[in-house]
Amino acid sequence: MEIAFWDKRAETIDRPTLRQEQLRRLQGTVERALQTPFYKSKLKSAGIASAYDIKSLPDITRLPFTTKNDLRDAYPCKHLAVPMEQVVRIHMSSGTTGIPTVIYHTQDDINNWTDLVARSVVCTGCGPSDVFQNMMTYGLFTGGLGLHYGAEKAGMAVIPASSGNTKRQLWLMKEFGTSVVHATPSYMLHIYSELVKEGIPISDLKLAKAFLGAEPYSENTRKKIEGLFKIDAYNSYGLSEMNGPGVAFECVCKCGMHVWEDSYIVEVIDPDTLEPRRDGEEGEIVFTTLKRTATPLLRYRTRDLSKIIDGPCACGRTHRRMDRIKARTDDMLIINGVNVFPSHIEEALMQMPEMGTNYQIVVDKNESLDRVTIKTEVYSNLFKDDMRELEALKKRMRENIKSRVLINPVIELHEPGMLPVYEGKAKRVFDNRPPL
Ligand code: AMP
Ligand code: ZN
Repeated sequence: MEIAFWDKRAETIDRPTLRQEQLRRLQGTVERALQTPFYKSKLKSAGIASAYDIKSLPDITRLPFTTKNDLRDAYPCKHLAVPMEQVVRIHMSSGTTGIPTVIYHTQDDINNWTDLVARSVVCTGCGPSDVFQNMMTYGLFTGGLGLHYGAEKAGMAVIPASSGNTKRQLWLMKEFGTSVVHATPSYMLHIYSELVKEGIPISDLKLAKAFLGAEPYSENTRKKIEGLFKIDAYNSYGLSEMNGPGVAFECVCKCGMHVWEDSYIVEVIDPDTLEPRRDGEEGEIVFTTLKRTATPLLRYRTRDLSKIIDGPCACGRTHRRMDRIKARTDDMLIINGVNVFPSHIEEALMQMPEMGTNYQIVVDKNESLDRVTIKTEVYSNLFKDDMRELEALKKRMRENIKSRVLINPVIELHEPGMLPVYEGKAKRVFDNRPPL
């Protein structure tokens, strides 16, 4: 297998040199952070008065963590490290409290982000011969613009389709021979249902690859999408606080996502004790920016749970890999005292060949007990079968889930197209229990 690189020196750099560069850049990040009112006081409380207080990479643990709430407190610009005249782009994400978190970018920041995305798409074997349809929302959300410029820089022909309007997406794919798409895994599954509904055979498309990200999904979902479309699907990870897409990306080996360690220091911590975890141990992923000038962020707590995969990758890149996101610390459900991650339910569902392309997890209170109902779309031909077959399928689904997550859900089977569709990040869990 021939391995393509965007920036071979940077991607295959030996680790001691990489670590030296990381230390030098980390000092630069601390220097810049000290220019902001937000970090100045935080760093002072941590006993850091100058970048030279950081003498080695392990000294990173002397730096304070940053949380999403901290960034809300810094709103609108207490964390901005350059004069506003140098800012060329602003992205933000809104949360449940209504106060957005804002990330400012200088031209250098945008150039570096573009480069990381170009590196990421080339890492999956993409290049000038590809037609790339970007189905992520263009706007404040970073999935649209973030991928756009990097894919252009790598020479792909970019169709900025943005999200939604599935019929138009299908038309574009057919008309222009789209070979690569970028979408959420849930939207990709929806596209497949629409193809079937419209009677378009897969052979009418030239699709060969998909970049899937923006929401957690299981390995079984990846396999399902690859099987339905007969394509290679690559995991793409990012978050707006760290630019957006292009933080970590799978290479052609598909065995974890390379974290671009010349731009980010990645740490894994115990989310409760905040103690560091070793490579291979699961915990909360924490990032520090190394190159960003407008909004340097120190030890940003992502709330995403994963682990670092040990050892070299067959592609030759030396940047360590991160496993797929298992869950977010804030989306764990407690069902009658048992901890349940929705991603485990998804894994169990997607293993079943009868499973269609959409599902929901609904949690209610039934007297004093929690009750989980799993609504699944299954292929419509199953509804022509006799009732006993459907009951047997429900039982198998229930058993499969029970063996994975120790809950005993009620299963509801639905025909394709009956459950709501999300064009961006899917909402899968509906927790209707009264607040405690
Ligand atoms: P946003 O800042 O709105 O782009 O959201 C970022 C969040 O989306 C991350 O912190 C993750 O929780 C989630 N996310 C992004 N990419 C992936 C991925 N490939 N797998 C799982 N979750 C992802
Ligand atoms: Zn690799």
